[in-house]
Amino acid sequence: MRIVLLGAPGSGKGTQAKKLMAERGIPQISTGDMLREAVAEGTRFGQKAQAIMEQGKLVPDDIMLGIISERLTQPDAADGFILDGFPRTTQQALDLEELLDQLGTPLDAALLMQVDFDILMKRLTGRRTCSKTGKLLNVYFSPQAELDAVVAAGGELQQREDDNEETIANRLDVYREQTEPLIDFYQKRAKLKKIDAQGTIDEVYARLTAALD
Ligand code: AMP
Repeated sequence: MRIVLLGAPGSGKGTQAKKLMAERGIPQISTGDMLREAVAEGTRFGQKAQAIMEQGKLVPDDIMLGIISERLTQPDAADGFILDGFPRTTQQALDLEELLDQLGTPLDAALLMQVDFDILMKRLTGRRTCSKTGKLLNVYFSPQAELDAVVAAGGELQQREDDNEETIANRLDVYREQTEPLIDFYQKRAKLKKIDAQGTIDEVYARLTAALD
């Protein structure tokens, strides 16, 4: 299965992609995670990417094409993948289409995760990661016992650098201007499926797999 997860920052793409990966063994390819790894490695490219990400802007399309071409030709992507956070511009969607045409492996679907604006804001401003396990939590939505357990185990509840209010506002503007046109793009290609992405993780996952099967 080759799918793209579309949706605003905070719509739950990463959470659902991780669940799909765990349950169906299809690799999650998150360009955001790949860029954060480059930042953590402190390479020159990582430093440039960091400056862009901190402003909530997009890394240039030609760089993203290089990253994604390399990743999609790895052996583990041969039997399918879940793209999370790519494409984000019409140019990236065209590049992806061309790349997959060359590989002879077209996309099966683009799933649009739909969430109301006020919930998006809470998901983004409340999002935390356990410094020890990488587990994703949310100070508004996670059970208090789960949040306490992280601290009790000596972990810290870390916030992503770009989850502050100013950067979040920029990321949502960029989404509206540059990524939302992809809804039309995939609709025209009869690949778009809309998912109500509100509710619990399991409820959303059930809707998502129902749309895929
Ligand atoms: P994410 O984790 O998907 O929210 O991505 C975090 C940040 O990484 C974004 O705000 C962008 O700055 C950058 N980024 C991730 N994916 C892309 C992409 N496909 N094109 C350009 N920039 C990206």
